[in-house]
Amino acid sequence: MGLFEKLRKGLKKTRTEGMTAQVDSVLESHEKITDELFDELEEVLIMGDVGFPTAERVIGDLKEKIANDNITSVPEVRETLKDIVAGVVWGGSYLSLRTKPSVILVIGVNGVGKTTTIGKLAMRLKSMGRSVVLGAADTFRAGAIEQLQVWADRAQVPLVKHGEGADPAAVVYDTIQSGKAKNADVIIIDTAGRLHNKKNLMDELNKISRVIDRELPDASRETLLVLDATTGQNAVNQAKDFKEAAGITGIILTKLDGTARGGVVLAINNELDVPVKFIGVGEQIDDLQPFDAEAFASAMFDLTPAHGEDDSIKEFMHSNDPEPEEKEEK
Ligand code: GDP
Ligand code: MG
Repeated sequence: MGLFEKLRKGLKKTRTEGMTAQVDSVLESHEKITDELFDELEEVLIMGDVGFPTAERVIGDLKEKIANDNITSVPEVRETLKDIVAGVVWGGSYLSLRTKPSVILVIGVNGVGKTTTIGKLAMRLKSMGRSVVLGAADTFRAGAIEQLQVWADRAQVPLVKHGEGADPAAVVYDTIQSGKAKNADVIIIDTAGRLHNKKNLMDELNKISRVIDRELPDASRETLLVLDATTGQNAVNQAKDFKEAAGITGIILTKLDGTARGGVVLAINNELDVPVKFIGVGEQIDDLQPFDAEAFASAMFDLTPAHGEDDSIKEFMHSNDPEPEEKEEK
């Protein structure tokens, strides 16, 4: 199955039960483009996990484009809406991994898919010829270290671990030393998602961050926040909390396959201004896909992407490419 086909399949629930289904039923009940049509569309977008501020923007953009392009038929509204969605969602699989070693710090609350995502990333990087060292800095949750060990074995990459309850910052320190000694390309750090309360969690992440700053001051670093799409607006709120406390460089949205709430991608992009770098559309290794706005919007509306299906989703990551222009954010 091609990547686009997997994406299409992964977004099936959103298409048949979620945002797209509701948009379609509104469009079917109108023969002319009226204010009422726009109001109803805005309403279903809000219900479809897009949220109020983003739905307002989408409908505003839609009205403008329909007026500018002299669109008069309701079926054309659907395709125009797809174009607007493709313009609202943004991201890309670009990971800044320019130094040797580079660091990927993976954060997020419990159960969102951090460890699984790290396993998939490690296997992909390995298959691209990169050497990887994993650090098991989730020492809080019982079984977390063993779970990462299973992925490390599968990917055949070394894992640095201490015992349960150990200081995560000490694990990070050792992982960095090991990565340096092995001349590794990428160090990936798993972290705990729940430490009694939010302040505790953020303090822990800050401590880890300081160790990386000190031990690898000039290294490329990605701080990837993992969010579970099935939690809808809750995911947006988590992203706001983490963004405030830890500088996030990208978002990985998992479990899109199990949910009708794919509309949440729009809210995350629009409200947070952080790129979505990967999405999870299943539990297989290649179900972690680089994010492509045009392919995503097309899959959501069951249309063919403007750039074609075959090359619709570029290969996993281009870590040697020149750095794209990025919004400065700290
Ligand atoms: P962590 O607590 O953040 O480390 O989360 P885990 O990596 O342990 O994942 C929690 C559960 O979510 C596991 O059962 C994973 O298999 C599952 N999971 C992760 N990503 C995806 C995805 O994209 N789709 C589906 N369906 N399940 C996923
Ligand atoms: Mg975990």
